Amino acid sequence: MDTDLLIIGSGAGGATLARALVGSGLRILILERGDYLPREKANWEPEAVLHEHRYHTPETWRDADGQAFHPVTGYHVGGNTKLYGAAILRRRESDFVPRAYPDGSTPAWPLDYAALRPYYDQAEAWYHCHGVRGLDPCEPPRGDYPYPPMAHEPVIQAFADALIAQGLRPFPLPLAILRDAANPNTSPCIRCDTCDGFPCLLHAKGDAEVCALRPALADPNITLLTGVRVQRLLTGAGGTRVESVEADTPDGPRKFSARVVVVAAGAVNSAALLLASKQAAWPNGLANANDLVGRHYMCHRNSVCVALDPRRANPTVFQKTLAINDFYEASGEADFPWALGHIQNLGKITPAVLAAQREHWPGFFTAAVAHHSVDWWLTTEDLPDANNRVTLDADGGIRLSYTPNNIAVHEHLLARWKTLLHTLGYPVVQTQTMGIEAVAHQVGTLRFGHDPATSVLDVNCRAHGVDNLYAVDASFMPSIAAVNPSLTIMANALRVAEHLRARFAA
Ligand SMILES: Cc1cc2nc3c(=O)[nH]c(=O)nc-3n(C[C@H](O)[C@H](O)[C@H](O)COP(=O)(O)OP(=O)(O)OC[C@H]3O[C@@H](n4cnc5c(N)ncnc54)[C@H](O)[C@@H]3O)c2cc1C
Repeated sequence: MDTDLLIIGSGAGGATLARALVGSGLRILILERGDYLPREKANWEPEAVLHEHRYHTPETWRDADGQAFHPVTGYHVGGNTKLYGAAILRRRESDFVPRAYPDGSTPAWPLDYAALRPYYDQAEAWYHCHGVRGLDPCEPPRGDYPYPPMAHEPVIQAFADALIAQGLRPFPLPLAILRDAANPNTSPCIRCDTCDGFPCLLHAKGDAEVCALRPALADPNITLLTGVRVQRLLTGAGGTRVESVEADTPDGPRKFSARVVVVAAGAVNSAALLLASKQAAWPNGLANANDLVGRHYMCHRNSVCVALDPRRANPTVFQKTLAINDFYEASGEADFPWALGHIQNLGKITPAVLAAQREHWPGFFTAAVAHHSVDWWLTTEDLPDANNRVTLDADGGIRLSYTPNNIAVHEHLLARWKTLLHTLGYPVVQTQTMGIEAVAHQVGTLRFGHDPATSVLDVNCRAHGVDNLYAVDASFMPSIAAVNPSLTIMANALRVAEHLRARFAA
């Protein structure tokens, strides 16, 4: 036996699990497909990051029609948190029970907010979450944030004040950042304009490498191997236990064996891994007796929204500090009463950021737009549709079939926000809704639940029918909610760690 517990993937779920098992006495081996993200000047170069996609995988996936596309995702130690915007929000209490929308309803979770609350507390502390309690209008019950909120720069503060004057309740966006505002000259974070979507050259983002993996690797029982891509999981006779995993390593193909195997490769890749693990006992893929593996993929309906007032420059540098949840649980409108979603600032669009994404625009125009824009990210929940799914093509490649849903609700959120921006004096508002390549918020392909007929994992995130197989990444979620997913992935990994410790460490 190579190890007690084998974790596949070192992102938000896998790394948090490893840290949560420090001191358990379990021998833990983490197999990570990627390497450490290189620390280099290009980390902060928009052209390299956003145009050349230096830190995104060059692999192609296919959509339902067989069209190839490049998913905006990366394979690194720390997973996609190396590039994330570090907005870490708790799900609301209402996100754990069914919510009705014009297109259907979300399912109930097998646990409620109270069950996750202590793990949210722990995850916020580990990931350096900055925020302030009591301002978010649908905030779930909680104590104080571990760190004070990131301060708004003047334009964003003015925006917050103007929204309050309109009767809204904007609040500081909870952020996972290693920022010491009282000591700016020694603070790891310098509040730069290359945070959201960029790797942090200063390692000052609260990502899974910095906040979970490094402390985990201080435990001599925990080992990380990089450049090891797991290809298949193999069970013994009867198919009820994973006996080994097959992987490509820098030294060639190798098998690893463990008492417990945890997939944490991200929602798409974890599903792909189980589907690739067809074997006599599991002819449709591991843990796939009911053809549920890979189904119910969700990724949010996301739009960028750029507000412009040509008369007012926006010199903000660190812009991603404000959030709006006034329409999160209900629109407040009698003729369209649905929950609409969540709004937060984007990292500031600079001339270089815009030039990297709009290469044909003339430079003077790019600069004029970027110097005046205030930038937003709007998120609406998408519904778990069984036909939105991950499958494997004959060549082993990933096929992501996804038809957007809940569109009318997202359009309503966009229209409502545009009207508000006009009211606040921004005459020009441009929006762009993300396409299938925007897989950043991928969740839901191995949903957890009580009933094996409708879920892949049980409530402890153990695969139904496979006694020693667990999943702790984004795949476990039966619904996505409208807040960013990472904090819930981290909190759930902490919850599952407690179960694994009790079951296996003794
Ligand atoms: C640009 C961007 C911005 C984002 N901003 C935010 C944000 O502000 N807030 C938020 O909450 N979320 C954000 N996200 C999403 C967030 O990063 C993910 O939700 C989170 O990282 C998912 O965690 P995970 O553990 O499921 O997967 P990941 O963090 O992706 O980790 C999976 C790991 O598994 C590895 N792996 C994959 N396949 C294999 C294999 N076969 N063998 C071995 N290893 C494998 C990968 O290399 C990776 O390290 C953002 C994502 C992106 C890309």
